[in-house]
Amino acid sequence: MKDLLQVFGTHGFDKDEQEQNEMILELLDEICKKDIEPYAQEMDEIGCSFDVETGKVAYPPQTYKILKLLCENDLMGLAIPEKYDGIGLSFSLVNACYERISRADAGTSLLFGLQNSSSDVIEAFGKEEAKEYYLPKLAHGEKIGGLLFTEPGSGSDLGSLKTKAVDHGDHYIINGSKNFITNSGIADTFLFLASTDPEKGSRGLTAFILDSKDNPGFKISRLEEKLGLHSNATGEVILEDAVIPKSNVLGEIGKGFSVVLYELSAARIGIAAQSVGIADAAYRKAVNYVKTRKQFGKTIESFQVTQFKMADLFTKIHTARLAYIAAARMKDKKMDFAEYASIAKLYASEIAQEVTYEAIQMHGGYGYIREYDVERHYRDARITPIYEGTNEVQRIVISRAEMAKNYSQE
Ligand SMILES: Cc1cc2nc3c(=O)[nH]c(=O)nc-3n(C[C@H](O)[C@H](O)[C@H](O)COP(=O)(O)OP(=O)(O)OC[C@H]3O[C@@H](n4cnc5c(N)ncnc54)[C@H](O)[C@@H]3O)c2cc1C
Repeated sequence: MKDLLQVFGTHGFDKDEQEQNEMILELLDEICKKDIEPYAQEMDEIGCSFDVETGKVAYPPQTYKILKLLCENDLMGLAIPEKYDGIGLSFSLVNACYERISRADAGTSLLFGLQNSSSDVIEAFGKEEAKEYYLPKLAHGEKIGGLLFTEPGSGSDLGSLKTKAVDHGDHYIINGSKNFITNSGIADTFLFLASTDPEKGSRGLTAFILDSKDNPGFKISRLEEKLGLHSNATGEVILEDAVIPKSNVLGEIGKGFSVVLYELSAARIGIAAQSVGIADAAYRKAVNYVKTRKQFGKTIESFQVTQFKMADLFTKIHTARLAYIAAARMKDKKMDFAEYASIAKLYASEIAQEVTYEAIQMHGGYGYIREYDVERHYRDARITPIYEGTNEVQRIVISRAEMAKNYSQE
């Protein structure tokens, strides 16, 4: 990492932020090295479990310790403005942190990633009353963020969702169901999308903050068993007469789709950072392995095919990192970043597949064995071209933005 720091400054941060950001990254590196990475395999093995009787979700014990550490060190509210008890730093810093936690453990990184997504959207679209209530709690980790968008029948096509929010004067009553919900059992402050006017389709959607605490209409009904990200619970949520006060509406009634598009664009930069973190973890393990493993009387490293593969993989990781840094910088500078967020997510998530695949290949049979821990990165990487908009959706976003341009007249 030092080489990139020296050439660009840490992640291209502004000069006045540089010193403080480097101190924060060093602190986070310590936590990753001592408290996350050494437990990642164990957390993957233990996974998350669900008690049908009580509806409670249990995470691996280390998850709660990590969360406490991130909160105690003020790392959960890095980009929340100081006015709301946060540290008021940049989105670029948040994503540099996201990459580092993902390098240690991708499942754990989602606690950090969704905390930032939730607070960013509440700050951008929330009513002052909601900002004053939720942002300090998110900054201190007293509340944890999540996203309640996807439904069994509506994933890429969110405009077709069925969950309804009915106006009851000073609050809405919610009925419906959501699935594939990350941070289930820990999150209680969800960005939520429902229809307030079913006849209008995607123009009848409204975004809200759904607080699941003391909200008996909110129930986790099951957890999914999945390929990777075992240290994070992915749940199904049933909403039966759940209550949302009107002060928790995000943006305007009927304009929820644009709130969600903003969230998705910003979060795609985070998934790009996460993908780079996963790829880098697998790459580093491969570099270490090929230096020690000997076949035909030589280290694997000494074969030119290995050397060229390393050159290609590192070039791709570096390029993907620059792509997400560029998109994050654009967001910090209040530029239109959506297309560049999609480019970063598309590229980083695809190279994460290749890098984790090749890292296993370079380990030979040992790469397939749990003990060597590269297979965990391979499994974790597989989600990155799927969530926060599949890569087919990213291609739609990028191609639409490109086709709207008229280069010949410039
Ligand atoms: C582990 C995990 C965690 C998740 N976390 C959350 C969460 O916290 N909150 C949340 O709301 N959601 C979450 N999701 C849901 C995730 O965002 C969706 O799975 C994703 O958006 C895709 O939706 P889908 O699964 O319904 O696939 P579909 O939309 O059914 O897509 C199936 C295939 O069809 C393709 N396709 C669809 N439409 C088009 C088109 N117009 N053109 C070309 N191809 C198309 C897709 O690219 C994909 O390849 C999570 C999912 C997983 C697996």
